[in-house]
Amino acid sequence: MEVLDEGRVRPEDVAPGGLPAESVGRPRRTAAAAAVRRAAPDRPPRRAHSPGSGAEEPGLSLVILAPRDEVAVHAPDPRAAEPLLASGTPHLYAGVVEGTGVVGPLVLPGETACAGCLHESRTDRDPAWPRLLAQWRSGGSRHPGACDLALATTVAGLAAAHALAFLDGVSPSGPGARWEASLPGLTWHARPLWPHPACGCGAARRAGKKAEAEHTPTGGPARATMAVQRPSTERAREAGAARPTGTWRAHV
Ligand SMILES: [Zn+2]
Repeated sequence: MEVLDEGRVRPEDVAPGGLPAESVGRPRRTAAAAAVRRAAPDRPPRRAHSPGSGAEEPGLSLVILAPRDEVAVHAPDPRAAEPLLASGTPHLYAGVVEGTGVVGPLVLPGETACAGCLHESRTDRDPAWPRLLAQWRSGGSRHPGACDLALATTVAGLAAAHALAFLDGVSPSGPGARWEASLPGLTWHARPLWPHPACGCGAARRAGKKAEAEHTPTGGPARATMAVQRPSTERAREAGAARPTGTWRAHV
């Protein structure tokens, strides 16, 4: 697992089971790595990839995007996910903005709805959405405040459960859904999310082909059903195989 984070630990980052009080002031990246080591002290040492050794660097199995920026939590920026879509890297969104926690969607590139599909769907419902979003983003980056610790812990746990299920080859509920819960009612609900034809990720095109196959009388239905139900590891492997050479970056 690799943690990418910027800045230094602030007092509001401290949480039970997460970053301890003594990590305040340390780079957040190293503090997070230390927290992972404390949680799994017996894991084997990570083998460093040596460039030029001829060994192929393993690709990322899954990237979890947990932005600190509140607008990015509510409306993930499709541009930020472009390298992940281009390399076929599965990715999962999670975050807390004020009193609302979000987990999902789990994006299987070219197969399930992505941040771009979410943006296009919102624009369909409200043509003013892009303008509103531009206004929010032009407001400059605010320093994210402390959020409700119980909610943040719940979101982190649900995101971790989705990630572990996916890495174990099970299809969690994440693809095509965005889980949301808001304080103080905490009613969890999954908002469905479908691939959008105006998004360049290609998931809508693939979904259309599947639908066509389901209506083809010769053998179509069986193949389509199997495609829907196959384990996510297989899909991840296929996505990986489709990646352009040289786009494998790091480890999970
Ligand atoms: Zn998309």
